[in-house]
Amino acid sequence: MDQQANPNYALAELDKQTMLHPVTSIAALEADGPQMFGKASGVRIAGPLGHDVIDFGAGLWCVNVGYGRQELADAAASAMRDLSYYHLFGGASNEPAVRLADEILTLFHEQAGAGHLSKVFFGTSGSDANDTAYKLVRYYNNLRGKPEKKKFLARAGAYHGLTYAAGGLTGIPAYHKAFDLPQEGVHHLTCPHHFRFADAGETEDNFCDRLIAELERTIEHEGAETIAAMIAEPIMGTGGVLIPPRRYLERVQALLRKNDILFIADEVITGFGRLGSWFGTGHYGLRPDIVTLAKGVTSAYFPLSATVISEDIFETLRDASAEHGPVMHGFTYSGHPVGCSVALENLALMKRENIVANAAEMGDHLLRRLREKAGDHPFVGDIRGEGLMAAVEFVADKAERRFFRLPQGAHRVVARHCLQQGVAMRPLPFIEVVSFSPPLSINPAEIDEGVDAFVRGLEAAT
Ligand code: PLP
Repeated sequence: MDQQANPNYALAELDKQTMLHPVTSIAALEADGPQMFGKASGVRIAGPLGHDVIDFGAGLWCVNVGYGRQELADAAASAMRDLSYYHLFGGASNEPAVRLADEILTLFHEQAGAGHLSKVFFGTSGSDANDTAYKLVRYYNNLRGKPEKKKFLARAGAYHGLTYAAGGLTGIPAYHKAFDLPQEGVHHLTCPHHFRFADAGETEDNFCDRLIAELERTIEHEGAETIAAMIAEPIMGTGGVLIPPRRYLERVQALLRKNDILFIADEVITGFGRLGSWFGTGHYGLRPDIVTLAKGVTSAYFPLSATVISEDIFETLRDASAEHGPVMHGFTYSGHPVGCSVALENLALMKRENIVANAAEMGDHLLRRLREKAGDHPFVGDIRGEGLMAAVEFVADKAERRFFRLPQGAHRVVARHCLQQGVAMRPLPFIEVVSFSPPLSINPAEIDEGVDAFVRGLEAAT
């Protein structure tokens, strides 16, 4: 088609003239133009090549109930008419925020071992939820007379967002090396991805022992009295859908507890059903001191995040309150009544439609199909997943487990071909992986259609 006759041409030009895109190469954008996406419904979105595509990313791992749900649009419209906005500062409150805090705590309390989580702080993004956790941990330690406990542990390959503190915790250098994000006082441990980072012949259990020994050594070397917290995603998402070795997370948690180091579970992706359980922490039987949430809480129909803290942390804050004054942290949009109303309807809809159980079932189906259809491909090194969080990792040589050298980006080429074939896939930045995280409402026929398109894309690319 003549480029200028393309109805999106003018819009694409305007985009280039007016926007600075997040996590985008300016040179590539200027050369290729933006990819304009249009209307979406269910698991399909109008793609940039003039046809609908299945969204195997659910946006950025977030559109859990699928696109275009009337119930959520109605909830937003009705909330906007009732109370379009009010804040929570200085003790102000609103009904949707209270009800959502109660609903989130109830969901946690229904899972074993999470009865200690007791208060919810609202924000608007996964990054600010992690910044809130970072600040509250420091506040808590200052209040309980341990101001020297300041350091944070995280892992290489982790993604915790891109604001100042959260970006410093993120363990993918491409995201922070150009911005001088704070690395002092942040210690990134070895990435817990056996397939890629195990030594030759090292079993998963031995790999896990090595990681735990490293954590133990680090605590000893730095001094437990200087370490405030460790942050971890139950399954690392942007880092490559990295499923930790068996018992890794519970062993990490036990070591942290023994050393009076808080455990922050970053459930921005894994919260609200992605793993086929309501939360990743319940899925793995964990008992974190703080959980951070965003994305799926509203299925991304409204920007909303939550930082959930334990009763123990809250009690320390409360006991110091008379002496220290207000908790001087918060945002204009904390507890936004429209966002909280959308979240309440989203969670009700997930329950009505058994969406979490569907994620577990469809996750099994997706993995089976991927293994059947792509398992023998010479560049497919590993196919893994838990619930509807799955990945294909590419290797340059399967027998020798030789990896492509980034930024060669075989996975980027595959993703481009997939789009032509009818499925939107996400190539990840840390290793050669494309991720699969469709809406949790997806059905078997849609999975099959998406996997077939992925396989055609893979074949066209190789
Ligand atoms: N934490 C995790 C695990 C994430 O995957 C993300 C975003 O993808 C974030 C935090 C940051 O969330 P946001 O982009 O909403 O700031």
